[in-house]
Amino acid sequence: MKDLTNESIVHVKNNGIEYIQFRRLLEYKNILKHCFTLKPLDFASFDSYKEKKNKVEDSYKKICKEFRIEYSNICRPNQTHTNIVKSIEDGDEGIYNEKFDNVDGLVTNKKNKALIFCFADCTPLLFFDPVKKVISNVHSGWRGTLQTIGINAVEAMVQNYYSNPKDIICCIGPTIRKCHFEVEDDVKDLFYNKFKKELDINNYIIKSDSSNNNKYFIDTVEINKQILLKLGLKEENIIDSKICSVCNEDKIHSYRAHGENSGRNITLMELY
Ligand SMILES: [Zn+2]
Repeated sequence: MKDLTNESIVHVKNNGIEYIQFRRLLEYKNILKHCFTLKPLDFASFDSYKEKKNKVEDSYKKICKEFRIEYSNICRPNQTHTNIVKSIEDGDEGIYNEKFDNVDGLVTNKKNKALIFCFADCTPLLFFDPVKKVISNVHSGWRGTLQTIGINAVEAMVQNYYSNPKDIICCIGPTIRKCHFEVEDDVKDLFYNKFKKELDINNYIIKSDSSNNNKYFIDTVEINKQILLKLGLKEENIIDSKICSVCNEDKIHSYRAHGENSGRNITLMELY
């Protein structure tokens, strides 16, 4: 059986479900629950939520049981590739709570709030400040990365909860990587123009050598890492799972690999 375990993550197989956890975050497992789910769990996109209702409810039931999380504590916005990060307070719970429509990052220091986002190739950023005990769960797709949602998450932790960037751990989950994130001039130009002043952006845009067409691979993981380092996060506090969702599409739902009908993985973070 395939095992994704490496120096950063452990691949857990328990009670018929599978997920990965970051070794670094497991150091705080007495106060923090977290995971990135693997197949066969499927949490479905917003559009296929109704038609997959039974499978999705079964997936939530299993993950809640595994992590001893109350279903009523789930905070799961209708994410839409924005750069908007919002704080979760008491009463903000719910799946697709309208108050959190078009929100792609959640932050809180409250206990028993299960912050959840869905993924099929987009980049999961899991932030944790062990000093101030603050978490932020972020859905950073290529559009979110382009709009630097990671910066907004760190700023929300600093402004709302007095975190020091030097204390913040950021774990980067399985995502489409430079081996598979191939784009054409339009998307390449967006990244180039956005980051040309602040980053050595040419290091993160690799011309595809497959032919003379205008195709490029973009290293969105490294771009996220670089913008977080500039904010004051420490290199040793940025932990990369090093897992590509497309390369591992047998274990991970991937939009590139499976198209419109792709299922969804989730990231989960909860203080308790
Ligand atoms: Zn890949």
